[in-house]
Amino acid sequence: MEDARADIERLAGLIAESRRAVVFTGAGISTESGIPDFRSPTGIWSQTTPIYYEEFLASEEARIESWRRKFLVDRDIVEASPNRGHRAVAKLVRQGKVTSVITQNIDNLHQESGVPAERVIELHGNGSFAKCVSCETRYELAPIREAFEKDGAAPVCGACGAPVKTATISFGQAMPDREMKRARRETLACDLFLAIGSSLVVYPAAGFPVLAKDSGATLVILNREATDLDGIADFVINREIGPTLGEAANVN
Ligand code: NAD
Repeated sequence: MEDARADIERLAGLIAESRRAVVFTGAGISTESGIPDFRSPTGIWSQTTPIYYEEFLASEEARIESWRRKFLVDRDIVEASPNRGHRAVAKLVRQGKVTSVITQNIDNLHQESGVPAERVIELHGNGSFAKCVSCETRYELAPIREAFEKDGAAPVCGACGAPVKTATISFGQAMPDREMKRARRETLACDLFLAIGSSLVVYPAAGFPVLAKDSGATLVILNREATDLDGIADFVINREIGPTLGEAANVN
């Protein structure tokens, strides 16, 4: 526990010294809320393989499977509420320490923990609604779910007939331009970049910690296991997120 105290104090010190910090989060910050991550031994990819965007567009079968998985995962997400790690991040934003939260998560928990929506940059979209893949008409999930449970067919757009997909970014799908540009600007402007709960293997998202480091920011990685970018970080903390960040930010 001695070592944990030293890590927390060092982290708190770096946060205190920073004039402009950015928090970058992955699925790991939400596991303490009961949402499984992707790459832990019990994570989603240990049990299923991803459906690529091309496949989703090309095959009705893939679309049905994708919606089936979505409603399965939603059970965890709908019941989840922000945990100590989310609350610590929200406090740092409130204090003006952290200007932006760049997240790979689609679970809306940063917003629910009190981070203003305009301070959250969602690189992989948001899973709480759906969109037509062609004309981008927005659809709410409840009616889609009701129809899907009744007839088992994948939803199509009422306006143009194209497939409807959750408003998340699938493997093989283009990244959202506006969010990528904002994340880049924020990363270039920060002096401290906190990468929290990400295996840092999904690009281009994992390019942001690299960019931060290259542009002179201090790079801290907080993750319970090793990540691909530990070698370039100034400080790697292999601990649980909630207790570590909670102590460092003095949040319960
Ligand atoms: P990942 O699963 O690849 O990595 C998560 C990392 O967090 C792992 O290295 C794991 O060891 C660590 N971790 C898990 N719980 C932790 C804890 N309590 N304390 C410390 N470390 C912990 O996730 P990723 O890097 O975000 O990338 C995968 C993709 O997963 C992203 O694109 C994201 O969109 C998607 N995803 C999102 C959610 C969500 O919205 N909550 C859930 C699953 C996957």
